[in-house]
Amino acid sequence: MAGELILIIEDNEKNRKLMREVLRVKGYQTLETETAEEGIRVAQESLPALILMDLQLPGMDGITALAALRADPRTKEIPVIAVTASAMSHQRLKILAAGFDGYQTKPITVKEFLQVVREVLDRPRKTGESS
Ligand code: MN
Repeated sequence: MAGELILIIEDNEKNRKLMREVLRVKGYQTLETETAEEGIRVAQESLPALILMDLQLPGMDGITALAALRADPRTKEIPVIAVTASAMSHQRLKILAAGFDGYQTKPITVKEFLQVVREVLDRPRKTGESS
């Protein structure tokens, strides 16, 4: 059931390329931005099915960007997976507490990465909740 549009927000060219290629091989469509500011604009315009968010970005960081997406009625329902270089257990809890729908550590493992993407895409959406 691939084919969904996925937005990759990641400033590292190598990581972006790897995620893009892995997703496209599986039939997903992808968009990419190098900054959170641009990513938020693209998300508002393109309404992707999923966003992959690097946490460490130039300018606005990924956690602040998530809050901005959640504050906008156009983008608040879009699931967002955090992609982070470091994920010790206390950091994972912080990531999930920030409201991310999942996380993936870098460097990505292809099989696990695709599983997390699929799992989050298949998760039932919250509808009509006022949070
Ligand atoms: Mn980065």
